[in-house]
Amino acid sequence: MIERDVILREIGLTPIWRSREASSSNETRIEASEQRNADVLSDRSVSTESPQHRADTEHDVLVRDADRSARIAAFDWDDLVADIAQCTACKLCKTRTNTVPGVGHRNPDWMVIGEGPGENEDKQGEPFVGRAGQLLDQMLAAVGKSRQQNVFIANVVKCRPPGNRDPEAEEIAACAPYLERQIALANPKLLLAVGKFAGQQVLKTDATVGAMRAKPGEKNGVAVVVTYHPAYLLRSPLEKAKAWSDLVAAKQMSD
Ligand code: URA
Repeated sequence: MIERDVILREIGLTPIWRSREASSSNETRIEASEQRNADVLSDRSVSTESPQHRADTEHDVLVRDADRSARIAAFDWDDLVADIAQCTACKLCKTRTNTVPGVGHRNPDWMVIGEGPGENEDKQGEPFVGRAGQLLDQMLAAVGKSRQQNVFIANVVKCRPPGNRDPEAEEIAACAPYLERQIALANPKLLLAVGKFAGQQVLKTDATVGAMRAKPGEKNGVAVVVTYHPAYLLRSPLEKAKAWSDLVAAKQMSD
């Protein structure tokens, strides 16, 4: 309950907001949530609402999202994986084969955060299993880290964006409570964000990868290092030297 109240306060909804007629009961909120999920799944969107109805709906959505975030913030690892598996919070659920919750040690030295699953990851339900994943594993091995031993690997979004397009802001926002909970549960010594989307989401910035990697950051007391995404390094191998120096710096910061 405390976490729910904190989240509501963070988004400016305390004292806890209730719409006039509609959302005074849990039942109504659950119905609204189910309706929104049904809309996501069927591509229906409401366009004939009055401004008042729209305002009420927006508030309902905020309260519902805060409730969902608070619920997720209380999960253990297994609850989290189970919830992700049945998530319909954004449209990526319509095109995924498998959800890709994350893999690795649940109390790791490092947590690596990527962007989102690609085709292979979507098929296998595991992050970074394609060519970029092989390079990531090699980079980690070079500093004594591995998903088998001391690293947890997750993505900003847990479902594949079709055609490997960039994840959209709404999709990133829908998945954010899962990533937040994973970081809290893993409680790593260091977060290694690979690529623009991971760095921006973890550090809450719109800076470029170049700017983010130049200055290690911090999230809730955990050191954050941003480096290039391994898929980018496959396309631009000359940048590997910079990624290597980022990993060496990260190792020094976390050892
Ligand atoms: N790229 C990512 O960012 N994540 C994956 O899981 C695979 C490729």
